[in-house]
Amino acid sequence: MDVALPLLEAFRKDLYHCSDCNYCVDAVWQERGMDHICATITHHAPVLSYSGRGYMAAARALLEGQALNPETLAERAFSCTGCGNCEASCPIGLRPTQVGQALRETLAEQGVLPPGVEALRQRMREAGNAYGAEPAGRTRWAEGLAFASAATATVNYAPGCAAAHARPAEARAAVALMTLAGERVHFAAATDACCGAPLAEAGLRADAAYAEQALAVRNTAPRLVTSGLECLPAWQRGGVVAGSFAHWLIEALADGRLRLAPKVSRPPTVQVFDSCASRRPGGAPDPLRDALAALGQAVANPPLEARYAVCCGAAGSLSELHPLSAARMAAARVPEDDRLPVVGSDPRCLGHLAAGGLAERYFGLAEFVLAAFDVQGAA
Ligand code: SF4
Ligand code: SF4
Repeated sequence: MDVALPLLEAFRKDLYHCSDCNYCVDAVWQERGMDHICATITHHAPVLSYSGRGYMAAARALLEGQALNPETLAERAFSCTGCGNCEASCPIGLRPTQVGQALRETLAEQGVLPPGVEALRQRMREAGNAYGAEPAGRTRWAEGLAFASAATATVNYAPGCAAAHARPAEARAAVALMTLAGERVHFAAATDACCGAPLAEAGLRADAAYAEQALAVRNTAPRLVTSGLECLPAWQRGGVVAGSFAHWLIEALADGRLRLAPKVSRPPTVQVFDSCASRRPGGAPDPLRDALAALGQAVANPPLEARYAVCCGAAGSLSELHPLSAARMAAARVPEDDRLPVVGSDPRCLGHLAAGGLAERYFGLAEFVLAAFDVQGAA
């Protein structure tokens, strides 16, 4: 018996083409940069129903009318970080990450939510951010900074929840660099709010759409720059000309608005903290390595590592359900060589690592530029 589940129905071809090869579960292929695939399987529970392959099997079963325990299924589906690694590794181009998302959205529509996801929704409604941080603290990072008015701005800066609450130094550094380059930077302190990305990742589509529809009216400058890689697609969906700070930096270096010289004659090599932002379905490109190349910065870890970098546990709803597993994922991403500084461009990852006491030598991209280079700008 087939059952009408439209969100899953859209993936019917994928579901019946899966060969159960297990690449998306635990592939290891050094030459291709694969060293296990699924952070949830590796660091939470080695049980197939927590993997991309497992989500494909569950969706197939539901469409065929099999009765699955909804609470158990929800616990599995919402334990996914949404990192996109299963989808990137599937050798025949199937979409297990998106099937997992469709499962979460289907369960959310039916009102089957794990308590952790209900708590996330409540925090978002009450505090306006996934951290549950006091709303008044959202603009604290900007204290003492001078901003342009909305009418005269060339750039609107939106830090995103992670930079605003968990990585304020990165937000301040981004504004400092844009200002040095001659941008008139506006920050809409009175209306700055979450873009809804944590809700969307948790399958709460209606709640996310409500947060997202407020974005377009908040942007008044010709373009918007954000430090939140998870926020960027939401701004762009609203028709706003938006880019990440890394994009802006690459442009400013290319057109000479920023000129940088290393502060020391032999600058240290850095390690890159590759995020899964580029890989997430509907996600934003993370041009961190391109930005470091534009800076002339030597990097220790090879580019191949970026392709299948396993999630640090910051994203999706996994950390809402299983914070200890999310902490194990973070610990597993700490580079073995602890002598080199680490540079990341996703404040959500850096905030997650810092919360576990793991980010001592870590820099956001803008923080790193200010720490390692003498900066001359158009301003
Ligand atoms: S999206 Fe990431 S965490 Fe979720 S099942 Fe796929 S590999 Fe695992
Ligand atoms: S989704 Fe792709 S990688 Fe995963 S088991 Fe099926 S065919 Fe293999």
